[in-house]
Amino acid sequence: MNAEQKARAIVNFHKQELCDKEGVAAILTISGGDGGNVYVQQANVAAHPDTPFTRRISAYDPKAPRISTQIQVGAEHYNRLVRMIQKGEHPKLALDLEVSFTKEDSCWDILAELPGSDLKNELVMIGAHFDSWHGGTGATDNGTGSAVCLEAMRILKMVGLTPRRTIRIGLWSGEEQGLLGSAAYVKKHFGERVGPDSNFTVTLKPEAEKFSVYFNNDNGSGKVRGVYMQANESVRPIFRAWLAQFRDLGAATLTLENTGGTDHLSFDQIGLPGFQFIQDPIEYGTRTHHSTMDVFDRAQPDDLKQASVIMAAFAYNAAMRDGQFPRKPLPQPQTPRGSQ
Ligand SMILES: [Zn+2]
Repeated sequence: MNAEQKARAIVNFHKQELCDKEGVAAILTISGGDGGNVYVQQANVAAHPDTPFTRRISAYDPKAPRISTQIQVGAEHYNRLVRMIQKGEHPKLALDLEVSFTKEDSCWDILAELPGSDLKNELVMIGAHFDSWHGGTGATDNGTGSAVCLEAMRILKMVGLTPRRTIRIGLWSGEEQGLLGSAAYVKKHFGERVGPDSNFTVTLKPEAEKFSVYFNNDNGSGKVRGVYMQANESVRPIFRAWLAQFRDLGAATLTLENTGGTDHLSFDQIGLPGFQFIQDPIEYGTRTHHSTMDVFDRAQPDDLKQASVIMAAFAYNAAMRDGQFPRKPLPQPQTPRGSQ
């Protein structure tokens, strides 16, 4: 954060604190985007910009303080209100708000599998998150990823091939609140990090020995262009060979780069191979991601068919190959930079 951004964040913090103290009816904020699109996620609890992210409290935390109602308004409508006020008008708004909290335990993962044959105790997983934000219906975040995984399973079942390893699909809940569904599943079955971020160790459960690889789809409706290798160079020749079949479908890129923000990280953070595909952005960042335009009309049917075929092939190839998927060394705490 540069000095100007920080100054702005401090003003916003004090503004929000003042509104909460005064007990205002609601705080209206201008939404990003245009054309009437409204980006909307969760309400914020006022936090000074110096508060570390790990110490900030979420509005949906049962221990969160009472805060003012927060409403995002489309830019054009918000600006009109501003112009009216600048000209001395006193616009009145009627707000109809009907929201409630669901129970703390209302978070469920959906799992199913195609049983393997000679290596059926070993596991290949594919998945996507099934939850979404409320502005739209969550069509591209992440209905499309869930549909790709379901279609991949349908293809594998329909062609009647028997995989060697079991192929399991996981449709995760609570991803948007912090990968909660996949993290809970990984912790229950495969292992966890123990200790603070600066000094953790990884403990693995017996099931982790039978785990091969996980593939995730959660970057919108765009077609698959390749794979982020999550800094695991040893998987390059495997993906290179598998992608050779899909050059004509436009999927050929491998990058050693990490990508974050979605459920493969729950596996990756304890050293299990977990990968997200590189996808065409289409209008994910500019229109549909966490917005009122995240609806069915924005899904791209042909791109989703391409992604489903590639997901099915990756799952099948992983289930059939000789040997488990190569792993990175177990993650280690990072030495803080500049400490010497
Ligand atoms: Zn998502």
